[in-house]
Amino acid sequence: MKMKKLMMLLLGTVFTGALISACAEAEPVYPEAPETVIIEEAEETGETETAAEAGEETVGTEDQGETGETAEAAGTVTDPGSVNTGSYEQTSEEYAYFSLDQVPAYNGTQVIPVHEGMPFFTEEELDAARESYEYYEALDDLGRCVFAQASAGTDTLPTRERGDIHTVRPSGWQKNCKWERCHLIAHSITGEDANERNLITGTHAMNEAMQVYEVRITNYIKDNPDAHVLYRVTPYYYEDELVASGVLMEGMSVENEGEAIRFCVFLYNAQTGEDIDYALGYVDFTEDYIDPSSEEAERAKEEALENADYIANKNSMIFHDPDCSGIAKTRNSNRIPLNCSEEEAEQMGYRPHYSCIGA
Ligand SMILES: [Zn+2]
Repeated sequence: MKMKKLMMLLLGTVFTGALISACAEAEPVYPEAPETVIIEEAEETGETETAAEAGEETVGTEDQGETGETAEAAGTVTDPGSVNTGSYEQTSEEYAYFSLDQVPAYNGTQVIPVHEGMPFFTEEELDAARESYEYYEALDDLGRCVFAQASAGTDTLPTRERGDIHTVRPSGWQKNCKWERCHLIAHSITGEDANERNLITGTHAMNEAMQVYEVRITNYIKDNPDAHVLYRVTPYYYEDELVASGVLMEGMSVENEGEAIRFCVFLYNAQTGEDIDYALGYVDFTEDYIDPSSEEAERAKEEALENADYIANKNSMIFHDPDCSGIAKTRNSNRIPLNCSEEEAEQMGYRPHYSCIGA
């Protein structure tokens, strides 16, 4: 009897070890990452030996030595400042779905759909999202944000005014480069302020593009107090660069299985007129740079609206034919010019206005 118990304990230890190594290597997938190995491992997590073997193949030997420590730091410690951190458990499976080599180079378009707009959430994650939680992954070895995930609901909304975030110096932050501290998950959704696991170095243009999704989620929860939105924001870096090349944003309204909100988009951490050194965060400004608070920026927005294929309302994320009376009275600041197909707009989480498009 005792012997059996001991065996179980030992097995348990081995198994836990395998799980921990899976956690430790779960870093953003870089273009050259051996994807097949990760997928294999993800499928066979139940089998201790296979997972361990796969782990050896995937990660360099250096990481293996400190697996235990890293895992403790990365997987189980939750931010003391956050509420309701839940029991979100991270596996490498969650990173295998996307890498930077899937997106074309930045050409001035800030947002593109990924995976036809379908988030990479698992069934288990969607089930678990019927209760609110927040999770902010620990910084990686380079001090970079890894990802943040929440099932946002009425009880994650902020209960106090937005606080100071200037105490946090995100990876790649350089002075006088017009960087903004971008929340992975916005204060308006989970009330996080100076949480270093939730703030990255980002351009104004990316920050602004993120807001569209943040506003939509916040409005939806306020209108539907019992509803949840599963939401994940993952920054992606090339190799050891300190500034993310962009973020993958995934969101889905849980109770109605994405009928109200569903998007999977990549946002470029870039901006016209900014020549960014992503390795260290230095920025050169070219003559194309436009100060976002200038009149020139307003004129550029007007021009973009005039040339847009569709125009969306920022508060509802409903998109219209540019001539539709339904968007005519909306202020320019709440109008989003879209230059894409109807299908792409929907994949980016916008919904068609039925009287002008959906008919
Ligand atoms: Zn319309």
